[in-house]
This record gives sequence, structure tokens and C-alpha cells, in this order.
Amino acid sequence: MSNVFVIDSFCKPLNPVHPARARLLLKQGKASVYRMYPFTIVLKRVVEQPEVKPLRVKLDPGSKTTGIAVVNDATGEVVFAAELTHRGQAIKSALDDRRGVRRGRRQRKTRYRKPRWSNRKNRKKGWLPPSLESRIDNILTWVLRLARYCPITAMSMELVKFDLQQMEHPEISGVEYQQGTLASYEIREYLLEKWERQCSYCGAKDIPLQVEHIVPRAKGGTNRISNLALACEKCNIAKGTQDIKDFLKKKPEVLKRIQAQAKQPLRDAAAVNVTRWALFERLQVTGLPVECGSGGLTKFNRTTRKMPKTHWCDAANVGKSTPLLLSVRGVVPLLVKATGHGRRKMCVTDAYGFPKQHKECKGSFLGYRTGDVVKAVTPKRISQGRIAIRHRPSFRLGKFDIHPKYMRRLHRADGYEYTQERSA
Ligand SMILES: [Zn+2]
Repeated sequence: MSNVFVIDSFCKPLNPVHPARARLLLKQGKASVYRMYPFTIVLKRVVEQPEVKPLRVKLDPGSKTTGIAVVNDATGEVVFAAELTHRGQAIKSALDDRRGVRRGRRQRKTRYRKPRWSNRKNRKKGWLPPSLESRIDNILTWVLRLARYCPITAMSMELVKFDLQQMEHPEISGVEYQQGTLASYEIREYLLEKWERQCSYCGAKDIPLQVEHIVPRAKGGTNRISNLALACEKCNIAKGTQDIKDFLKKKPEVLKRIQAQAKQPLRDAAAVNVTRWALFERLQVTGLPVECGSGGLTKFNRTTRKMPKTHWCDAANVGKSTPLLLSVRGVVPLLVKATGHGRRKMCVTDAYGFPKQHKECKGSFLGYRTGDVVKAVTPKRISQGRIAIRHRPSFRLGKFDIHPKYMRRLHRADGYEYTQERSA
């Protein structure tokens, strides 16, 4: 288990402590549980605190999952790690669904909501589709939440995929490729973008790609980026030290395409994606310094520190501030999944848009909400998890219907689902 967050009796964050120390504090009655996820305890008495050690929150934003790590730069200790799964597709399908229902009513000449074209024109600057917007909101929520429970003084995020020092014209000014260096990692990311993450020769995708010399080294080809392409293992071996013109003798159109693409430098805009950029701008509003790293640097840091390829490990390795030694002993990431806060739809429809069921206005029953994490102790079994309420006293918990009298709430519904794996 990762460290436990501690806040003092004025809700100010203190240094996170080892779980054993937290257990002792709880047992002695000096602290009580403040919240379950992330696990935080609150001290009951006013104490004189030693100096708080500044921490850095590090982010690796991804389209499906974002890695989050809280790192102590001075000691290299990873204090907390989480993997946040977004709900981009769920939002899109919910909106598609709604559109389908409304259009269905228009077609059937029934009472309907008039199309409001005005809300589509003149979009505000910085507008993002709802699915992307939710991704940024998820990350911001978690950054602010962590800043409430531990002393965070800086942030790092992966902003660009590659960062060549001479980003202006890397192909012309000539960055040399030398395997194993930081530059080689940046170049690899650059090539992946440039060759669209596929084998330049056969177009194979989602397989390991190797850096390939278009004019082979044996024939005097240079290490310049304009002479590099990506190839799958099969093509790389098949080509060997042949000249590209001999290798692609039977495929003149492929040869032509590769030669044209090799000369074309990639614009640096290709390295930044919209969502990350918007996140960067909004993180700055918090007032904390934001450090930016590149994907190439993250990979280089992770490889040299011999860490596995997971989202939270990537996050811990973002940016130049990464300590030389990262201590990850005992760190188990908290798996967080965005679930949203339910629907406002009062009429549930089936796949054809026909009303199937009407929903109660009230979101709670006997004080419980869908999404609350409870512990239930019934005469038959003890279970813990996220409930789905009904408007009668039997709630769904896992596979069972359980009466709320057996339940005790551990965590209020907050739009996320949590899984904490136990450390080995
Ligand atoms: Zn290939």
C-alpha cells in the first residue's frame, strides 16, 4: 500500500505517513479516518508539526487512462500512485443516444424539442467536445484533491510526444541518431509520429517497430533523421543491407511514397495534442509551477530506471525533475474509474427509443445513493463495494440484493469507482 495522507485538525495537509504509523494513530485514538479514497486520516488534537516536505504531483495524460504519481523530489520516494480511467466513449454514446431519441420524435411528428442551432455556432474559444472536456475535468479534480491532502508545491505533466532541441528543422539541421541516448528516445517518438506508427514498407500496425536506415549504413547512409524510417522486424531483416531501390524494385509506388515522406519534416504542432494543451493551460490557473516533459524523455527515464511500463510508472518518470533513484517499494496504484454522476433522464428508453421505465426524481433512498461504497455485514456474508440503489429497501451490491440495515457507508458517491489492489 502506498503511504497514507494525513491532515491536521484544521484540514491542512501534513507529511504522508507509512500505513503502519497510520494504523497506530487510529488505534490510539489520536486520529480518525477522514476519507477512504485516497485513504486520508485526520488528527484529533492540534499538534506541533515538523516542517512539511514538498511533494510534486506528476501526470501522464492518456486518451483512456491517465497515470498519476506523487513524488518526493528530495528523496525520490513515490508517495502515492493512481491510474485514472476516463469515460470518453461512454459520454459520446450517451450523447448519440440522446440525439437519436430526439430525432426520432421529430421524424414521428410528435411533440419535440426544437433544434437549437444557435448553441452550435460561435463556440467559445477553447471549446472541446464533451468527452475530451470530461478527461480534463477528471484530471483537474484529482490534482486539486491531492493538493488538499498532501503538501504539493509543484506539478509535472507530459505535454509533447517528442522534443528535439532543434525542433525547427530537425531534418535539415541534422540530429544524429545514437541508440540508448536521450536523443534517440526523442527521435524514436518523432519517427513514430512521422511514419504514423506503422511499418514504412508494409504498413503493419500495432507491432514492435525498429529504427531503419533508408540508405543502409554499410552503403554510406548517415544517422540523420532524414535517412531513418520505421520497419517491422520482418521487413527490416528482409531489407538487410540492400539499397532501398533494389528492395522496393517491384513496388515503385511504395518507393516513391517513402522517398517523399522521408524528406518531409514534421511540424512541431504534430507533437502536441489539443487535450494536453488545454490541460496545461488549466493547470497553470492553480498557481503552482507546471513542468513540461516529452514522451521521449519519459520513456528514457523509465528505461534507465528499469521500471515497468505502466501508466503510473510513466507518470513518475515525467519531466527533467525526475530524481535519479525512484523508490517504488510497496507502492500499489489506486485504480480510479470515472463513472459520472448518473443520468438526469426521467424516462429510460429501449434500443428503439420506446419508453421502457420511468425513473424516480430523487437520487437517494434512506440516505444512500447509487455509487456509495458500503460495507455490508449480513448473517450470511460480509461484502464490500459500490451499491446501486432502488427506491425500496433492497440495494444491489455485487451479485446480491441487500437490505440497507446491514450496510455501513465507507465512502460517499463522488463520480468515481475505486479498486485498491493489495500489495504482494
Ligand atoms: Zn513491415
